[in-house]
Amino acid sequence: MKGSGYFILRLFSFVCLFCLYAPLAEAAEVRDVRLWTAPDHTRVVFDLSRNIDYEVFRLHAPERVVIDMKHAKIRKVTALVLPDPVVKTVRYGEPKKGVLRIVLDIQKKNIGLRSFLLKPMQGKPHRLVVDLIRKESKSVTQVKKVAVKKSQHDIVVAVDAGHGGEDPGAIGRNGLKEKDFTIRVAKKLAALINKEPGMRAVLTRKGDYFVPLRKRVRLARKAGADLMISIHADAVKTRSVQGASAYTLAERGATPDRVAVALAAKENAADEIGGVMLSQKVNDPMVRNILGDMAKRDSLNSSQLLAENMLLQMKKVGKIKYKTPKRARFVVLTALEIPSVLVEMNFISNPKQERKMRSSKHQTRLATALYEATRNFFRRMGLLDSSAMVPSS
Ligand SMILES: [Zn+2]
Repeated sequence: MKGSGYFILRLFSFVCLFCLYAPLAEAAEVRDVRLWTAPDHTRVVFDLSRNIDYEVFRLHAPERVVIDMKHAKIRKVTALVLPDPVVKTVRYGEPKKGVLRIVLDIQKKNIGLRSFLLKPMQGKPHRLVVDLIRKESKSVTQVKKVAVKKSQHDIVVAVDAGHGGEDPGAIGRNGLKEKDFTIRVAKKLAALINKEPGMRAVLTRKGDYFVPLRKRVRLARKAGADLMISIHADAVKTRSVQGASAYTLAERGATPDRVAVALAAKENAADEIGGVMLSQKVNDPMVRNILGDMAKRDSLNSSQLLAENMLLQMKKVGKIKYKTPKRARFVVLTALEIPSVLVEMNFISNPKQERKMRSSKHQTRLATALYEATRNFFRRMGLLDSSAMVPSS
């Protein structure tokens, strides 16, 4: 049979290509290292030219965390942002031929380790993530709680600044990152809420570090939040597009809105960009038992009311993209007992808007709009005293 002989020849040459290439395979290259300090852990991220084999372990006296990467080398990397409460210094060497050893000198004994690889995603390369988890973090949160001296009966608003750390979110043409914009507006909104008697804000993210979407929901629940506001900025290819929009959670089986579904997919990808271990995703039961009883439906109605109010207020500050709130399955909105709204404040991809979004004054205006909407919402619910109500113009 002529054909099969040809096939074998083809197969042979194909296999042989591998024989040639295998020994020549380039060592993986560590191209950059970043460090993010979160309240309960420190995250070190290595950008890699390809996937690697690695090991992470502890060595004592002096305390250090060692990361051995097989068949890898390191390129000159930018200096890390230190100080960090755990990592003192980062150094590297080659203990054995072909093994790149990264050593993190640490100043705490009581830490847990977690590491995982991430596949390339939205312009990010292969990455190795190493988390150093501080075990005493509970006392830290307690101290912070004492700092806000307010009544236990206060209305609690969870203010969620989208993205952070490894996940910059959308990036404007002149370099403004969504994560930096959202944290500024979130902090301003929290400050306004904390000034209001009977209200208290809880930030799900306080600095530049990544918080998984489900953890944001968990933090809101733990704080006993009566409301959750997730702050974002949108981006599209067409630079002229602008305007604010508001989103609530869609019920399962609802007619999907194409725009909202696409946006939810983009926002839900944050976990893969910011770095969440697969096991962390699978083990979380929250997303599985979604929806059902009347209380949840009430909360969805409340979310709708709040979202409408937000658009009304945002209209005073700038343009609105969609007149009514849209619905989709955003992971960050899945605390069904808490009325939750995600707001895209505007399009960071519009250079004029990007410039405005950089301005502290404009950020204050946006935060004030969200604050007014929140206050009006609680007043309508009869939860906030309306005697001090100022007539709106
Ligand atoms: Zn976003």
